[in-house]
Amino acid sequence: MSTPLPAPETTLDRFARIVAASVRVPVERVTADARLDELGADSLDIVEIALDAENEFSVLMPEHSILEIAREELGQGVVEHEGTLTGTGKALLRARLPWLTDEDVAGEVPVARALAWFMRVETWVALIDRLMAESPAVCSRCGHALEQGSPGQLRCAACGATHDLVTGDEVNRQWVREFMARHGDAPPRTAT
Ligand SMILES: [Zn+2]
Repeated sequence: MSTPLPAPETTLDRFARIVAASVRVPVERVTADARLDELGADSLDIVEIALDAENEFSVLMPEHSILEIAREELGQGVVEHEGTLTGTGKALLRARLPWLTDEDVAGEVPVARALAWFMRVETWVALIDRLMAESPAVCSRCGHALEQGSPGQLRCAACGATHDLVTGDEVNRQWVREFMARHGDAPPRTAT
């Protein structure tokens, strides 16, 4: 990222640049509804894109998909059953991925198809926005702006205080709990 950037840029603009550099496609092709795999990203590219996004946005990307987190939180059979989404699973993903249409979730939805939704650029952008919203913007000790510290931390340049970033998995876990609370089913307690 050596060229100076015109402001203001959206999260999508900044993320699209990361993707374009990683998979070597014109940035114009990295639209909200494009899919990383269809743009040519393999699993290593996706790891690289996640790391670059962590540096660019000062966040910690989750290591597990929201479906995996939901399975951990809610137990087997709640969001998926025999390889297809349950009604709860569909409701959870619709809440999470507002761009999904009725058609997308009609009938039997194999989990494999749902996993492809997580390849959508707008899914990543929404996740990054969510993670940034959970990151402190200013130092709680002195109010100065924070900058990137060691991995997983923000550092105050004025007073040197460090602020831990909340992990993406923890943000997702909290989101699943709030979703289930809104939908009337208390999530089971877990040891984590
Ligand atoms: Zn400070």
